[in-house]
Amino acid sequence: MARQLNLPFVDLGGFDIDPKALTHVPQTIARRFCLAPLCLYGDALVIAMNDPTDSEAVDTVRFVSGRRVEIAKASESAIESALTGHLVLSTLHTSDAAGAVTRLAEMGIEPFLLNATVLGVLAQRLVRRNCPHCVQEEPPDPGVRRALGVTDGEIFYKGAGCEYCNATGYIGRVAVYELLTLTPQLRTMIQEGICGESLGRQAVAQGMVPLTQNALSLARRRATSLAEVYRVRLL
Ligand SMILES: [Zn+2]
Repeated sequence: MARQLNLPFVDLGGFDIDPKALTHVPQTIARRFCLAPLCLYGDALVIAMNDPTDSEAVDTVRFVSGRRVEIAKASESAIESALTGHLVLSTLHTSDAAGAVTRLAEMGIEPFLLNATVLGVLAQRLVRRNCPHCVQEEPPDPGVRRALGVTDGEIFYKGAGCEYCNATGYIGRVAVYELLTLTPQLRTMIQEGICGESLGRQAVAQGMVPLTQNALSLARRRATSLAEVYRVRLL
């Protein structure tokens, strides 16, 4: 996740963070109470807080900013990252790229905060690479073909096993992935609380190549076997 709340120019795709918000709360106070100023909204200052029930923090911000204070909950680590103002890459364990957004929402991160901080999600798995020394045609299991929606006529390949690959048919591994980038349409869905499968479907409609299809294209280029695609496929 990227959290760039301290940067003067941020493409937030529908959610405007006003850099002026940052000037309303001194860093010392932000750090002391673990909060991050996000934006100005009418006469209010919106802040993300680790503990929204901390009335001392709210009172202090109200006092130093001279504004009404609205609060969004955020995790402590998220606020720390926001305060450092850097691009942050983080790992979540979910079934697919869209699932990461759902996970973050379930962790209590408000939709507008999600929209303000997440640039995109990369879901990745590894497949074993066919040994180039012994790769040969291999008729895949009919069940595997059906599961992956591959026609009967299509030819796939697998290493037969040789001295180079220690008779396994594979040498090394290669990453397959799906990259979900948050388009304005996806941000609108997140704002409306729509997550999970619908988000994934919309991402695909907008050009995201699903991980399974990415793996399949590797198999079509002989780089891996159809069995490997089946093993890492996302349902
Ligand atoms: Zn080999």
